Amino acid sequence: MPDIRPTVGSGALVLNASYEPLCVVSVRRAAILVLSAKAVCVADGEGVLHSARHALPVPSVVRLTRFVRVPYRSHVGLSRRAIFARDGWRCAYCRGPAETIDHVFPRSRGGGHAWENVVAACAKCNHTKGDKTPAELGWRLHSAPAAPKGTAWRVLGHRAPDPRWAGWLDLPETEAA
Ligand SMILES: [Zn+2]
Repeated sequence: MPDIRPTVGSGALVLNASYEPLCVVSVRRAAILVLSAKAVCVADGEGVLHSARHALPVPSVVRLTRFVRVPYRSHVGLSRRAIFARDGWRCAYCRGPAETIDHVFPRSRGGGHAWENVVAACAKCNHTKGDKTPAELGWRLHSAPAAPKGTAWRVLGHRAPDPRWAGWLDLPETEAA
């Protein structure tokens, strides 16, 4: 295995042989795929990787040379960071900067910990809301909470996309800009 020390770049997008986005791996892992002819580089990142025998442009997007069949997780994992990312780091009630997670229908009253019942919220709204429902306070949600969907979410999760990957992922325009 070559001794490759990445100098820049945090990850590389891996495409299936069919150009379908699969996952994000470390730049080092992507370089090893290319050097072992398991993948070809589709888009370079910035900088060069050096090993004893090779100098290779940092891969930003690689495509597998053989098609792999991948079983997809149908659900995006529910995590704090994923909830913040889905909600754009904004409070679902006042649209201010979010710093907490709120259960729309309170957990103390049987509300579930599920994508459909969690939103990002600022500390003030969360504290004011307490054990009440939005309806009881006369508050309205800007949109119904739901599990995130789409290729970008499946591949990236809460990871910030590299602009070089935009051509392969159905990124929302605001994120691709
Ligand atoms: Zn708020």
